[in-house]
Amino acid sequence: MFDVAIIGAGVVGCAVAYELSQYELRVALIEKENDVAMGASRANTAIIHGGYDPEPHTMMGKLNVEGMHRCFELCEELDVEHKKTGSWVVAFDEEQRVTLQMLLVQGIANGCEGLDILEGDVVRLQEPNLSDEIVAALWVPESGVLNPWEFALAMAEVAVRNGVIFMPNTDVRDLSWREDHYEMGARVVCSGDETTIRARHVINAAGVESDRIHNMVAPPAFEIVPTRGEYYILDGTAAGHVVRSVVFPCPTRAGKGVTISPTIHGDYLVGPNAEVIDDRTDTSVTRSALLDIADKARRVVPDLDLRTSIRNFAGVRSNSTYGDFFIEKSATNFIDLAAIKSPGLTCAPAIARVARKMLCEEGIPMERRVLWRGGRRVIRFKEIPEEERAAFVRAHPLYGRVICRCETITEGEIVAAMKREIPPVSIDGVKRRAGTGMGRCQGGFCGPRVLEIIARESGRDPLCIEEDGCGSFMLIGETKDPTCREI
Ligand SMILES: Cc1cc2nc3c(=O)[nH]c(=O)nc-3n(C[C@H](O)[C@H](O)[C@H](O)COP(=O)(O)OP(=O)(O)OC[C@H]3O[C@@H](n4cnc5c(N)ncnc54)[C@H](O)[C@@H]3O)c2cc1C
Repeated sequence: MFDVAIIGAGVVGCAVAYELSQYELRVALIEKENDVAMGASRANTAIIHGGYDPEPHTMMGKLNVEGMHRCFELCEELDVEHKKTGSWVVAFDEEQRVTLQMLLVQGIANGCEGLDILEGDVVRLQEPNLSDEIVAALWVPESGVLNPWEFALAMAEVAVRNGVIFMPNTDVRDLSWREDHYEMGARVVCSGDETTIRARHVINAAGVESDRIHNMVAPPAFEIVPTRGEYYILDGTAAGHVVRSVVFPCPTRAGKGVTISPTIHGDYLVGPNAEVIDDRTDTSVTRSALLDIADKARRVVPDLDLRTSIRNFAGVRSNSTYGDFFIEKSATNFIDLAAIKSPGLTCAPAIARVARKMLCEEGIPMERRVLWRGGRRVIRFKEIPEEERAAFVRAHPLYGRVICRCETITEGEIVAAMKREIPPVSIDGVKRRAGTGMGRCQGGFCGPRVLEIIARESGRDPLCIEEDGCGSFMLIGETKDPTCREI
């Protein structure tokens, strides 16, 4: 019997697991996919939002600035790649200049510091590629970018190190209260087996599925309106200098608009659009959306060269009929951290603290774990100074074998990722941890070598190694491994 079961290992579930791992509690982190951060937390703009955008009376407005500060602190503590870039919101006319003023006032009410509105010519001194038509911009110095999946993973790794049980491939199908605990029926994805999990308290962090989980124990209170956002990734080497900071257009009711943003890997993200879709799992990329994004982005940076695109992808937002984060105690010992749309990545650590306080109010004893082991360090070969590399490789020969040539990722980094608290099980799992396949060739060269290393280090048949989710095998052939099943 667990004290707390968290349904969903996106950034919110991982942040809650991290927070609760600091207390003497038996905690399960349940995820239907084969890894953490497989939903919205893996496909987003990766921005640590400054906090001027949400209205002050909303949960988003209340949690944004605290979440932003906590994101930067956690990135330092857990060695997660991040950059404080600052961001601009640009105005093309006098009406939009009024919007900037409103955002500035809203930002101050939310606790943002250092906001300023600058004239177009002054902005172009900082960002020379911005359009001459931009008349003014709001400067938000405290925002930045991070590696979103590493952020979620790092929190989950520390949680697991401190006793949290991570249960991947476990799809919660039903949930019922039995006098003093919940009983959850789950299907083990891929094998098709059924399992039952028992917990005294349940936290719903199921992203786009969070309304369905809520409806298992409480009357409907909100409905998820899945809203897809598509992107280009531009190769930083080919694109040259585009922007130094994140650049937003003026927000509208449809959202924050098409953004041009530097990534922590030296590339650029261009997107997203916002399209309401029926299928919550539909992350396909469409020609019409990409053309629309291109038009909007070129209005901001007229010379943007989209031929330098190395990949397109899409993520699905948990927008909802409620309009705000749905953070409520909705039934006995049941907490919803639901409908966590943007800026949910930024707010996740603050949401986790709210969840901990709500659990306290439910009467759960919170005793600090005496031997809690926090912190995390990652060796990134390309960050080792040139003059130290030879000695490092002599001591650690696996770091002398470059597997991903585009991003200079070595075998040592892949093997280290395989030995962490939550080892990757797929080629994309290694990509999310070590950064292989992130560059120009998108894994075309290193993919087969990564597959070999996963098979060797995990002792699995290469035929059973997946590219990403369950059943996405890279090789075809007969295998005797009984765990290797098609879905
Ligand atoms: C296009 C886009 C751009 C965004 N940009 C930003 C940004 O720049 N900055 C920012 O702060 N925020 C941004 N966001 C918002 C942010 O990404 C999300 O708010 C955040 O990732 C939500 O995290 P989550 O853990 O609630 O959901 P998710 O990451 O979706 O995690 C939910 C998890 O629950 C699992 N699950 C679902 N049902 C079950 C079940 N029955 N059993 C077991 N597991 C289950 C899913 O598999 C999933 O892994 C963006 C979102 C999108 C889509």
